Amino acid sequence: MKVKTRLFIAIFCVLLACLSWSPAVLALPATIEAAGDPAIAGQIGALATNKTPEEIANDPVVKAAIQAAWEDSSADNATTRHEEGGWIYEDADGNLSVQRWPSGNRSSIDAPPPTPPPGGQVVGEFHTHPNWQPPDGKDEDGKTWKQGPSDSDKNAKTPGTVGIIKDRSGTQTY
Ligand SMILES: [Zn+2]
Repeated sequence: MKVKTRLFIAIFCVLLACLSWSPAVLALPATIEAAGDPAIAGQIGALATNKTPEEIANDPVVKAAIQAAWEDSSADNATTRHEEGGWIYEDADGNLSVQRWPSGNRSSIDAPPPTPPPGGQVVGEFHTHPNWQPPDGKDEDGKTWKQGPSDSDKNAKTPGTVGIIKDRSGTQTY
């Protein structure tokens, strides 16, 4: 084998090693930081966001989207009220954004498959419950609605993400 060819192979191998080594090294500082600080480690969910459920729910972008969804739910109209909701995404820089779901029905809503931004992830979801009314949950027809997330809401939520319900009393996280 010629020296030139050997040199080329050697450089190629070094490049390969660098490529496989660098992502691991780049990811290292966050891991060390989280492991070294129990408070930070405790905030990191299954999907590795460093935001708490409260921080996500109180983010201005998320709050505005939830309020818009509530207004779109026509809660005050007994015949057209329906559920609205959306995915909450976190991008690679930690910024939150919202993708609304297609409108739901009177007491249910289906989430489409999430499409988080490149390098980002799903950190939460929200939907409205326009039927519950204070003080006892009864609507105009005397039907009683449960306040807060239903069992199926809890079961449907992706583990490690935050769920937010908006109703007439405010918002609840689950
Ligand atoms: Zn629900």
